[in-house]
Amino acid sequence: MQYLTILGSTGSIGVNTLDVVARNPQRFSVLALTARTRLDVLLDQCRRFNPRYAVVLDEQPAEHLRRELVACGCPTEVLCGPGALERVAGLPEVNTVVAAIVGIAGLRPTLAAVNAGKKILLANKESLVTAGALFMSAVAENGAQLLPIDSEHNAIFQALPQGRSGGIGEHGVRRILLTASGGPFRSMPHEAIARVTPEQAIAHPNWIMGRKISVDSATMMNKGLEVIEARWLFAASPDMIEVVVHPESIVHSLVEYCDGSVIAQLGNPDMRTPIAHALGYPDRIPSGTDFLDLSKIGRLQFEAPDFGRFPCLRLAYECLRSGDAAVVALNAANEVAVTEFLEKRIGFLDIPRLIESVISRTPAIPIHTIADVERVDLEARAIALSTRGGHELLKEAGAGR
Ligand code: NAD
Ligand code: MG
Repeated sequence: MQYLTILGSTGSIGVNTLDVVARNPQRFSVLALTARTRLDVLLDQCRRFNPRYAVVLDEQPAEHLRRELVACGCPTEVLCGPGALERVAGLPEVNTVVAAIVGIAGLRPTLAAVNAGKKILLANKESLVTAGALFMSAVAENGAQLLPIDSEHNAIFQALPQGRSGGIGEHGVRRILLTASGGPFRSMPHEAIARVTPEQAIAHPNWIMGRKISVDSATMMNKGLEVIEARWLFAASPDMIEVVVHPESIVHSLVEYCDGSVIAQLGNPDMRTPIAHALGYPDRIPSGTDFLDLSKIGRLQFEAPDFGRFPCLRLAYECLRSGDAAVVALNAANEVAVTEFLEKRIGFLDIPRLIESVISRTPAIPIHTIADVERVDLEARAIALSTRGGHELLKEAGAGR
């Protein structure tokens, strides 16, 4: 039996994880669930899975949840605050922690699981993006096991030699090819992209996901973050990681070897496949995903990414090459810009402009500790927010709306 903590259980990844858990009740038992939003969903999850703990961020919703749980006779204990997130990530009885909080808010709780030597199913890409070197050394020092559930990284993990250690170059790998759907605006004219609404941006053509990652997919920042994630997960240099646009999202990523072989992982676009792979690893377990019917799909397309149309992808590569502080600033500025866009305070094309402007103003200080990461993150957010949602910055950067 695997005992689970699910950080961010009410989000898209959290809900899909519990769906796979419910299909395999003989293997998994849920010890803790955590959420900041959709607390009605958390209440329902507590009723269904009877975790020992439910964690929410603030005292008022915690009190409300406690009353509701008592009323329905559910024995789950409600804890509250960021310290409680770290506590349930490191519970001695827990074997596996699913890291599915969105944003850098997931960094401390995910690291708590790493420091406690758990098996970590990583969805929260922002923690690896912002603290990659520190994160990976903590994994090695504490004997934690890191299994990616981001679909591209899960695909690469499946296509790499199993049981490998060290950098992938030592195993005959020539390149990692990360596939990208290109999002909803892949072929929309530039003038039309300037006017897109948050509703259009979050309507992804192939995947149903949380709002932030959906906007990241539309700007292709998601692929940029995934390039950085791959750099750390697979000890790959940036030159070894390429992006290929594949609008059908059937090939989830590929590994090319020095003998010319290319190994890919395919499947329908349904996050329950990589989640089930990582939950069951090294066994295979049912996920509920529909099986792939290639003759029905008929045609798979591939094309090079358009760095002009998607400046966020270019910015991510540039920051990865220029250093740790730049990457932290990239992530922080992106989190602010996406929120500003979702709140309709800036336009879609202002997102990369705002990010580029913040990166150029963030000092390139060396990053030695998580506190350094958090300091640069806060500073970059302050720069981004310094004047009415960054409008002054946008003007300085010569942005038109
Ligand atoms: P989501 O917005 O649907 O859910 C996020 C979860 O985190 C929710 O439970 C929410 O309540 C909780 N949360 C939000 N802010 C928090 C905070 N400050 N402190 C504590 N908890 C907080 O997001 P999602 O789409 O499930 O994505 C989660 C993570 O997984 C992201 O990092 C995303 O990039 C990554 N990811 C998602 C998908 C996908 O298909 N959704 C695929 C690959 C990777
Ligand atoms: Mg992905």
